[in-house]
Amino acid sequence: MSYEVKGWCPGALRPMASGDGLVLRIRARNGRLMPDQAQAIADLSWSHGNGLMDLTSRANLQLRGLTPAGHAASVAILARLGLIDRDAGAEARRNVILSPFAPVGSAAWQLAEAMARAMTEPEAPQVPGKFGFAVDTDPPVLAQTPSDIRLHPQGPGWLIVPDGGDWALAAKDTHEAAARAVDLARWFMQGGVRDGRGRMRDYLRRAPALPHGALPLASFPFSKYPCDGATEAACADPPGPGPAPNGWLLGFAFGQITAAQLARAAALGPLRLTPWRALLIEGAARPRIDGAILKPDDPLLRIHACTGAPGCPQARADVRALARSLAPRLAPGQSLHVSGCAKGCAYRGAASATLVATTPGRFDLIRNGGTRDPVTLAGLAPDRIPL
Ligand code: SF4
Repeated sequence: MSYEVKGWCPGALRPMASGDGLVLRIRARNGRLMPDQAQAIADLSWSHGNGLMDLTSRANLQLRGLTPAGHAASVAILARLGLIDRDAGAEARRNVILSPFAPVGSAAWQLAEAMARAMTEPEAPQVPGKFGFAVDTDPPVLAQTPSDIRLHPQGPGWLIVPDGGDWALAAKDTHEAAARAVDLARWFMQGGVRDGRGRMRDYLRRAPALPHGALPLASFPFSKYPCDGATEAACADPPGPGPAPNGWLLGFAFGQITAAQLARAAALGPLRLTPWRALLIEGAARPRIDGAILKPDDPLLRIHACTGAPGCPQARADVRALARSLAPRLAPGQSLHVSGCAKGCAYRGAASATLVATTPGRFDLIRNGGTRDPVTLAGLAPDRIPL
């Protein structure tokens, strides 16, 4: 069960090679794309990519299947659209997710902008790849979105909560919240990085001395934040397809969206990228896009499947084809994770059933666990998989 651990995410300026070509990740500012931007990205996918894009769990959009020349041409066009950072380092550090429900210009919107500005300054803490921030709204919708530092509205101010911590920093306004969140990232940098990698949750397990001003999370009215451990059952599931406070959410199986679907969505209004394998169309009501998931009980929403073959060179199977064929057999409430190898890129948690491709045409089944948990049944052929 070997696989390659990269420890970083692709960007626009630093694409990642995959089995279907280069992957270029677009980090739209505050996760919002105007119709002209979204239409231009759909055009890029048609002209330089393979017509397929990913909606990522960090609320980004990935173009797939680019050649080196197509990548260069895409970056030039994305720069004209205001979707390119100064350099690859700034792009990687601008890892800020804003709640897709935050109104444009709201305090949360301004805070996410301030965080993005601060983290792209030359003197910003040089956090490792994948280290990220989440700016939530109330009630929270990002509690299950992995992030190292979360910012949650608390009365007129903000709480700054480290992932995995039972304490928080308080801030009286947006300006102070951004400054304290960046200070918390600096505190993490004092001991949280090893061999160029590190996550807040792992650092806190090593019980470092707490930063000045840390207060018990339980002392705040919103003590169930973050969604963790004993309080996990109290956390709301991520929003599903249907009406949203500022528009309409449409789901996409495995987070894959085609150029034609994106172009259709662009014609309906400004878009918000979400971390839920869904696209929010601002101001829309019951939009229809061929192939999009409209119902929150669609079993495809309970299936995680990575890129698999042929897109990923490490994959041992076309896992999305298998996942689609198994979807009708998935019982209500059951979840399924189909992974092209043991790395488990699509989902880190436990699913009711997890299938890991081991050799072409053979899968290991893990019940109520993840890709690295003990195998329940090994070497299953696709037509012998019990769900
Ligand atoms: S889990 Fe899937 S996408 Fe990730 S490396 Fe393995 S085959 Fe590739």
